[in-house]
Amino acid sequence: MSKMKIKKGDTVVVLSGDDKGAKGAVKLTMPKRQMVIVAGVNMIKKHQKPTGSTRTQVGIIEREAPIHVSNVALYCSHCERGVRVGYQVAPDGSKVRVCRRCGEPL
Ligand SMILES: [Zn+2]
Repeated sequence: MSKMKIKKGDTVVVLSGDDKGAKGAVKLTMPKRQMVIVAGVNMIKKHQKPTGSTRTQVGIIEREAPIHVSNVALYCSHCERGVRVGYQVAPDGSKVRVCRRCGEPL
């Protein structure tokens, strides 16, 4: 299991599939499955079954389905595109994610 380079709250670009080119914020990461949920991306319709006597929950709801991290790239606002991520060691010893294209911190 490799460590995920993408974190919750990141803006990513979708690289393949029906939503190719779509941009959105990461709502959730699933490191064990190497999947992410991106806001507004890979929407699936789900039929909500009636529960109890309330009718408010009945119908079709749309929600995001997880997509594999290999299908998304971190968005660089400098490059204005999805980019590959590199790491640099900051002066205080901490690791900083940087854009491999322009070198800016992400
Ligand atoms: Zn960049």
